[in-house]
Amino acid sequence: MSRFLSYSLKIRESPTLAAAELVRRLQRQGKRIIRFDCGDLLFDTPGEIKDAAYEGLRSGYTHYTSCRGIPELREAIADHLARWGVEADPESEIIVTPGAKFAIYAAMRATVDPGDEVILLSPSWPTYSDCADLAGGRAVFVSMNARFHVDEEALKGAIGERTKMLVVNTPNNPTGSVFEARDLRVIRDLAVDHDLLVLSDEVYKLLIYDGLEHTSLKSLPGMEDRTILVDSLSKAYAMTGWRIGYAVAPKEIVDAMVKIVGSTVTCATAFAQYAGATALRNEGYARRIRDMCDERRRLVLRLLADLSGIAYVPPRGTFYVFPDVSAYGLGSVDLSIRLLREAGVGVVAGAAFGPSGEGHVRISFAVPMGDIVEGFSRLGSFLESLR
Ligand code: PLP
Repeated sequence: MSRFLSYSLKIRESPTLAAAELVRRLQRQGKRIIRFDCGDLLFDTPGEIKDAAYEGLRSGYTHYTSCRGIPELREAIADHLARWGVEADPESEIIVTPGAKFAIYAAMRATVDPGDEVILLSPSWPTYSDCADLAGGRAVFVSMNARFHVDEEALKGAIGERTKMLVVNTPNNPTGSVFEARDLRVIRDLAVDHDLLVLSDEVYKLLIYDGLEHTSLKSLPGMEDRTILVDSLSKAYAMTGWRIGYAVAPKEIVDAMVKIVGSTVTCATAFAQYAGATALRNEGYARRIRDMCDERRRLVLRLLADLSGIAYVPPRGTFYVFPDVSAYGLGSVDLSIRLLREAGVGVVAGAAFGPSGEGHVRISFAVPMGDIVEGFSRLGSFLESLR
């Protein structure tokens, strides 16, 4: 039957979802697994947001909505983004999607032509290269430097005739790095000089620590008309299963994305959109989630410091840390599978995040505090057994 499959077969299974599948299989066999592999938060959505969803259901948000999303949510998005200096017309420059993932897919499908190159700063979240492939484009990986910031020379060297888009993700999955003013200036200058489109994935912007402030690339001079900002309620509000994301882009790009949404999924779920507007109007909910993640981050940093043979860059955003485990002499896939099978700890192999991810594993710490303590104790014993 394979002769009937389209070129998109070359898209590999999402490595992060594949790891989660193996974890579930072991759990079904009765094993207690510490879930450091999840791109999800193991905390519940704030009750007030759930109440808003019930209210939405009761008041008739049970039908198709505009392909752009309900006006209440688009207006809440515009007001929310104003805090970061992003101005967007809710009528024409914002589109709500079933999760940021679909916004990324639709944005690339709307702008990337076969043969176009999409530059990814590696290590990078696998969805970007998959969506570039689906759009018929080609992902070009450019390594970040050892501290997971922009390597200006490498980035410059990768830009060529066919470069159409540059994808930026800060705060960053999987490294936890937060780009500084210098990184953003380099990206801005190159994008303007080479007339590039920038997809700026800012889904972790509210999960940022140490008093740092997020800067949106779209707010920088010269960037407004060339930036597709992608964001989501999944992470900052613990709403991953609600599937509410959005994109903010110039009108023509949003119009093209509206066609893609209209001919595929129609709209994001109506009452989830209604609850999303409540979430965005109450940033206090996101602050609660951020504080929970920060408490865990501090614990993880204390425990990591006690493990020998592991180098790491302390994360300043997200809920991930991306330690270098290459000193143990195993490939990241082998190490993560053995860690899962032998010690019951799920992590994601760094190789899943492109060429410069090898030698690392991604640990997600949006889990109960007790799991962090137990998981690091298991991890420590496992690494000891490899010596
Ligand atoms: N962008 C990044 C960088 C992510 O890590 C994720 C989820 O893991 C997403 C987007 C997807 O967000 P959503 O749940 O809104 O599709």
